[in-house]
Amino acid sequence: MAVEMHAGLASEGGSKLRMLLTYVDNLPSGSEKGTYYALHLGGTYFRMLRVKLGGHRSSILSHEVERQLIPQHLMTSTTEDLFDFVASSLKEFIEREGSSSAFPLDRRRELGFTFSYPVRQTSVSSGVLIKWTKQFAIKDMVGKEVVECLQQALTRKGLSMRISALVNDTVGTLALGHYHDEDTVAAVIIGTGTNACYVERMDAIIKCQGILTSSGGMVVNMEWGNFWSSHLPRTSYDIDLDAESPNPNEQGFEKMISGMYLGDIVRRVLLRMSQESDILGPVSPKLLTPFLLRTPSVATMHEDDSPDLAKVAKVLGDDLEITDVPLKVRKLVVNVCDVVTRRAARLAAAGIVGILKKISRDGSGGITSGRSRSDVKMRRTAVAIEGGLYTKYSMFREYLNEAMIEILGEDVAEHVILNVMEDGSGIGASLLAASHASND
Ligand code: ADP
Repeated sequence: MAVEMHAGLASEGGSKLRMLLTYVDNLPSGSEKGTYYALHLGGTYFRMLRVKLGGHRSSILSHEVERQLIPQHLMTSTTEDLFDFVASSLKEFIEREGSSSAFPLDRRRELGFTFSYPVRQTSVSSGVLIKWTKQFAIKDMVGKEVVECLQQALTRKGLSMRISALVNDTVGTLALGHYHDEDTVAAVIIGTGTNACYVERMDAIIKCQGILTSSGGMVVNMEWGNFWSSHLPRTSYDIDLDAESPNPNEQGFEKMISGMYLGDIVRRVLLRMSQESDILGPVSPKLLTPFLLRTPSVATMHEDDSPDLAKVAKVLGDDLEITDVPLKVRKLVVNVCDVVTRRAARLAAAGIVGILKKISRDGSGGITSGRSRSDVKMRRTAVAIEGGLYTKYSMFREYLNEAMIEILGEDVAEHVILNVMEDGSGIGASLLAASHASND
């Protein structure tokens, strides 16, 4: 990971890691004050937030979130249709503030826009879409200025709003992480997909010489879901999953780690077991259906602590129509869930350590010859982390935490803190809107 990070920073296209510039050079300090808005366009939902900031570190006075399902047809429609829908919803959200708001309706508001897709940024508040991921496929949008598209829709709806920051969701998480804990140097999201960002020194970003920032650093969006290395052992299940996916040879790391795929890896293993033996009875047609087994069901089976593994039997029956599975076989199914989840968690942990290694926060930089590892002066280092897989799947979380200690060693690991951020990607965007707000 550290080697590929170097390559991605050296030249455009130098690695499968895109290492995208974000133009965020100063993270929120805690002094931000006032009411700011955020819009998070992620996967299935988009979220609108109103955040009141008190001007002291950790004093987010309040934040309100509204979630709205994105109608399926809009995900493959036109840019205008999608953003008109988003702008209308945002307008209604603001109108619901009513007279209680300190803001008159016509007063200009500042908005942070979290856009969880790869964007080639040209400033903190502009950038063009490189490609869609997840379920979106609006062809006319690729290559377009994302902020302009939203700004035009807001104007069409008569909404007075300025988009002061365009941020990747990982950058939002990092911003909130830093707001609460100034030792935060990186952020990782492990939910439906996975990605990470971190603070890099400007002089290490070889591919963009000439840009000066006041802090001497910049947040880099790694797009680590696309990471690949010949060192990663790939099983036949990974190869098949990738080949049958809509984006073969892309998002290889994500396909081994994130919530969108873990259920399907388990399904593929169970299918092979069923085809090559009779322990699961006749092959259930459900087992042949891609993505039918979801990651939360894997978690339910994995974490079944009942003596007769009744929940395993229920998931197998309800989700896969496999019934009358003997206890011994149910135990085997739990083992499959364990192996797949443990591998994912350990790969994610290795990725995090890769980032720490790249920025000399893995404890190795401080070792001088003749000194033992316990003499290392290790700076306290925080990593902000968000996403349903980490927060809701406790076995995944435990395996990830355990692997961090195993790779770093206990002495170093005790200085590395993983801080969970609730709603970080949204709240963080409003913090960045605050720190980049115009004063006019
Ligand atoms: P998103 O990444 O879609 O923005 P989240 O961060 O909430 O949203 O992550 C949702 C993903 O987390 C789901 O797609 C699912 O794979 C995973 N997930 C949610 N709940 C659980 C659970 N209880 N156990 C395991 N995985 C879960």
